[in-house]
Amino acid sequence: MRDNAKFEALVVDREQDNVFYSFKKLSLQDLPAEDVLIRVHYSSLNYKDGMAVLNRGKIVRKYPMIPGIDLVGTVEKSKSPAYQPGDPVILTGWETGETHWGGYAEYASAKAEWLVPLSNALSMKHAMSIGTAGLTAMLAIMALKKHGINREKPILVTGASGGVGSLAVAILSRLGYQVDASTGSESAHSFLRSLGATEIIDRRELAEKPRPLQSQRWGGAVDVVGGNTLSNTLAGVSYYGTVASCGLAGDNKLNATVYPFILRGIKLVGIDSNTCPPEVRKEAWNRLAEVLSAELLDELTEVHGLKDVPALSEKILRGEVHGRIVIDIQ
Ligand code: NDP
Repeated sequence: MRDNAKFEALVVDREQDNVFYSFKKLSLQDLPAEDVLIRVHYSSLNYKDGMAVLNRGKIVRKYPMIPGIDLVGTVEKSKSPAYQPGDPVILTGWETGETHWGGYAEYASAKAEWLVPLSNALSMKHAMSIGTAGLTAMLAIMALKKHGINREKPILVTGASGGVGSLAVAILSRLGYQVDASTGSESAHSFLRSLGATEIIDRRELAEKPRPLQSQRWGGAVDVVGGNTLSNTLAGVSYYGTVASCGLAGDNKLNATVYPFILRGIKLVGIDSNTCPPEVRKEAWNRLAEVLSAELLDELTEVHGLKDVPALSEKILRGEVHGRIVIDIQ
């Protein structure tokens, strides 16, 4: 592509206090000059992207911004010996789409150390079916294994029909765990069972005012909801189990007692996929490529074009998206 040739991008900009998105034609000279220029093939839509596009919360911290926290594509030019033109690469996190330009454009520019080589075992589309959501789910499951779970009992996944939740259900089930999926979405029950959930729990049950200690239902848990759901989860995990806190889809507060920690040895572990170190990231992507089949990823993914992102952002913030949305940028 010539440096002055135009390409399509979704841009969030600010004029005084007014923050708004628009579709624009940009040229390569508009991109920040990082080590690696990438021709983007696919991006994805995460909860955070919905917030960035529609200006809910403080996700975008520099303007103008191209949102899109995930992208996959081919290296076009590289100043780094680690990558050559033609190499397929994944970029997720590192504040992509927040403080530097992200995946909702045909080209992106990134530091070499942010990138992960795309495994031969994954297509570009499937890498974005996984995206930040799948990476987060895998990091949470790696944390459960590292810090301890009771394998005799099911693992609880909350917000189960969403991106992180559905991938956590699918991965846990493929690794041989029983999975209890908590959801507020009745229309997602058969989807969750098809991913491998053994029990479905109505999310209202976990949103009730928490009692400090409850019967030991779960061997561990992946929580994306926060608030009372996380408190009830901590109170219902059996001795020495681990709870991975990934999100705040319901509430950013945690109203809990110390009893689960001091009377049952429960561990609460935080997951941050954004700044996860490169070696852990690579290990997680390798495990994801091993455990998730193309058929399964197709089953939980819808593919849309860049123009659909604003309407889909409304939908994901209303909690109406099941599984993953891949954005076709080619
Ligand atoms: P999604 O919107 O795809 O999924 C969130 C799910 O949470 C929904 O599908 C819904 O599931 C449930 N939910 C939504 N609103 C509520 C509510 N008010 N109360 C209880 N449950 C609710 O989002 P993602 O999977 O992309 O992200 C989930 C969370 O994880 C977000 O908070 C996000 O910011 C965070 N996150 C954190 C990361 C990290 O590195 N720590 C990385 C990626 C995401 P259901 O209908 O099944 O109940």
